[in-house]
Amino acid sequence: MALLIVMPDLKTETWVRRLKGCDPTLDLRVWPETGNPDDIEFTFTWNHPPGEFLNYPNLKCIASMGAGVDHILRDPDLPRGVPITRVKDPSMARSMSEYVIMAILNHCRQSAHYARSQAAGQWRPRIPLLAAQHSVGILGLGQLGADLAGKLTVLGFPVAGWRRSAQPLAGIETFWGESQQGAFLARSHILVCLLPLTETTRGILNAGLFAQLPQGAFLINVARGAHLKETDLLAALNSGQLSGACLDVFDNEPLPVDHPFWGHEKIVVTPHISSLTHPRAVVPQICENYRRAVAGLPLNHVVDRDRGY
Ligand code: NAP
Repeated sequence: MALLIVMPDLKTETWVRRLKGCDPTLDLRVWPETGNPDDIEFTFTWNHPPGEFLNYPNLKCIASMGAGVDHILRDPDLPRGVPITRVKDPSMARSMSEYVIMAILNHCRQSAHYARSQAAGQWRPRIPLLAAQHSVGILGLGQLGADLAGKLTVLGFPVAGWRRSAQPLAGIETFWGESQQGAFLARSHILVCLLPLTETTRGILNAGLFAQLPQGAFLINVARGAHLKETDLLAALNSGQLSGACLDVFDNEPLPVDHPFWGHEKIVVTPHISSLTHPRAVVPQICENYRRAVAGLPLNHVVDRDRGY
């Protein structure tokens, strides 16, 4: 039984070293040097070539290198019945919360204004936006959204979250489903997107949604670029319906040099760094699932293919 790493766009040396360190007995292969396809029973992957997994008749698991599995599910030629797993890493949640809190505090404390003022040598005080008066709405109350909600509450922000299923999250005002989306948006001065990218959530950050936010709301997208309709964001910023946006993810990455987001004074751009996958935390999960696959045991962190996350 062999474990195949399929990450065409990434360097794999660190993954190989850590996987070998975790289990020296692993028969480890790195795509495209696959050897006999019949040997491959487990793949660990990010952005695989479409149709690739159909080459391995004995595959027992497709393991995503990240929390998202949209990069796997967008392949129309996936083998049926092979479980897909994701990563669940508390350090990933912590890192994401740190990034979003930074973006929220920069917005409330008007950091961009002071950076411009300092560059111009001008003393231009403004009244800061107070946490207690700025409700944060989090789209998606999963592993990442729930961690963020708890931390923002401690900082004194009124926080609410929106999710698919009718499950309250202790201590957090929780809305669910389409019927409660409008009420959730109407109270969100700062909107954070932490949804998985699925057929239902693609393009969810659009003009119709922005119109339901309080005027002057601030948008933070740290989920996937395809959640956002980019031209709708530019129009909402022009009209003043949104006061600004902080974006870490883009439909087209790296963001093209001539993209209007780069020079936009109301948009903060970062290069998909809000929460990186740490091999140290992830490799033990992969090895554990590999052992489970070998032993025929149920796998950890299996996603629901029909739901898309
Ligand atoms: P998760 O644990 O699977 O949680 C997803 C949340 O979204 C759940 O609360 C779910 O509702 C909700 N949701 C899904 N579809 C919905 C819908 N149609 N309507 C309303 N709510 C819906 O995911 P996670 O670990 O928190 O990660 C979220 C996403 O963040 C990932 O999928 C990935 O794309 C992105 N991400 C980005 C980075 C980065 O560096 N920028 C890093 C890591 C992850 P229920 O709770 O009711 O199921």
